[in-house]
Amino acid sequence: MAVALITGASQGIGACIAKRLAKDGFDVAINHFPSEESAAKALEVAKECEAFGVKAVCFAADVSKMAECEEMVKAVKEQLGSIDALVNNAGITRDKLLARMSEDEYDAVIAVNQKSIFNMLKNVCPVMMKQKHGRIVNIASVAGLYGNPGQINYSASKGAVISMTKTVAKEYGRKNITCNAVAPGFIHTPMTDVLAEDYKTKMLEAVAMRRYGEPEEVASVVSFLVSEDSSYVTGQVIEISGGLSM
Ligand code: NAP
Repeated sequence: MAVALITGASQGIGACIAKRLAKDGFDVAINHFPSEESAAKALEVAKECEAFGVKAVCFAADVSKMAECEEMVKAVKEQLGSIDALVNNAGITRDKLLARMSEDEYDAVIAVNQKSIFNMLKNVCPVMMKQKHGRIVNIASVAGLYGNPGQINYSASKGAVISMTKTVAKEYGRKNITCNAVAPGFIHTPMTDVLAEDYKTKMLEAVAMRRYGEPEEVASVVSFLVSEDSSYVTGQVIEISGGLSM
């Protein structure tokens, strides 16, 4: 059975991707932040995944820490046997205009959204090299493509995710490992639920489809990118934004 490892899968888009890949027939490794609250949420996600008749195992690790990623990847290999697909999804926001943003707020977002990708790739790519097969999907954002006021930290981290995606695609293409990114726009999740109502209404004016996306609409594109149907697609960024930018 093929195995998919999804980071930050205790809620939101990550949880939805885990469930979709379980439905597709993957055994799933559900990464969650090492806290009791995240562990409890991840366990619920695992139960929903198991309902599709696959194995679902939770792994606690703060993906911004290299040592924790190393331990997690070892544990996934030991318990599930391989890592065929990696979805780098974990992410945070600490939104403020540049003038008001602290150095800590900048560094925190870079550590979780950007450095985590390096940590995961360093540990998972050697596993995929040995397998002579692998699918990597990084969750970027439209902010990484176009920038966004109040998100200099987040935009920088997601822009880096896109350039890292292309670099890995170039370095590992000959090893039968593909690496792509998706760039969601406004998706209904706990991350966007906290935004002010007037901001949300204003942002929708720029969306051709005039609605928010659902996590399932991100998960379905990820499902394609980890499947054999996308076997000749690598180094690409697929925007999932209802036509935010055209
Ligand atoms: P979310 O609901 O806040 O979920 C983020 C997940 O990441 C949570 O499960 C969280 O765990 C986990 N996480 C945070 N820090 C972590 C760490 N250090 N180690 C391990 N896990 C960690 O957000 P979301 O909207 O689903 O976002 C998922 C991804 O999509 C992110 O990369 C985000 O930037 C991207 N994205 C979202 C949107 C959107 O509109 N929602 C748009 C573009 C891109 P706990 O909460 O359990 O701590």
